This record gives sequence, C-alpha cells and structure tokens, in this order.
Amino acid sequence: MSITQNKVVSMSYVLKNNEGQVLDQADEQQPFMYLHGSQNIIPTLEAALSGKNVGDTLQVSIPAEQAYGEHSQELVQPVPRAAFAGVPAEHLVVGAHLQAQTDEGVRVVTIAAVDDQNITVDGNHPMAGIDLNFNVKVVAIRDASPEEIAHGHVHTPGMHAH
Ligand code: ZN
Repeated sequence: MSITQNKVVSMSYVLKNNEGQVLDQADEQQPFMYLHGSQNIIPTLEAALSGKNVGDTLQVSIPAEQAYGEHSQELVQPVPRAAFAGVPAEHLVVGAHLQAQTDEGVRVVTIAAVDDQNITVDGNHPMAGIDLNFNVKVVAIRDASPEEIAHGHVHTPGMHAH
C-alpha cells in the first residue's frame, strides 16, 4: 500500500532548522499520524509523501514562505503594560507565550521585549521565518474510516469528544 488520498499515514520525523537545531520530532514508537490529502500538514511535505511506501525515508527542505511564512515585523507591537493588569508578573518575561484576544479571535503571542512602559508582543507563528528541514520515515499506512474522511482528520482510540 502506498500513500494516496484518504490514507492514514504514521511517520517518524526529525525537524531541524538550517543550523541543525532540532525543533520537533516524533519517534517510531509514537509516530505522528495524519490523513493524507486533507491538508493536515504543510502542503510541500504532503506532496513529497505522495506515493511513498512503508519503510521509505525522505528528506524534505521547506523554505519559510512555504511553511509558516516569513516573520512579519507588523505583527510585533508594543502594548502598554496596563493592558496586562490581570497577568501575573512572572508571565511577563521575554520568550513567554500569552493568549491574546484579537480581531481574528484568540491567538498565541510571544513576548519579544519588556520595559517599564510596554510589553512588546510578537504575533508571528513561533516557526515563522524558519526554513524547515524534515527527515521523515513512513512507519505505517492504512485506509481511513468513512468517519475520518468526513471529519478530515485521523481518529485515534479514545479520542471522540467532538
Ligand atoms: Zn473527528
């Protein structure tokens, strides 16, 4: 069986940036699963997996603009400290993640800088501006259930709260 539309793919992977730093990974014992053809994963990676078989390995390098986008300076904004009145001080440190209410709903922002007047928040995805280098191994392939195809994602045992 090879990877085609509506197959559930289990894969192990290591994701590195261009400097070789590991950003994310899944091993063969606890592989990452997705429904092929349902845009569950980055399109470039999904396309590279098309037609592959169990045991195949592949290397896929994806420029930032095809992954989580370039880092946008417009999404980095100083916000007056008063807006964070309800947030414990220990959460207001550089690198911390906060949930922010925006016009497009709740999104996660990262604190980029802190001074006496302002907290500078960065609304970019944490992987924005980063070229992604995947080393992938296909661990298993199965047919998706009709329910999975209808939902557009994989169902794992015990996961049915939706
Ligand atoms: Zn579902």
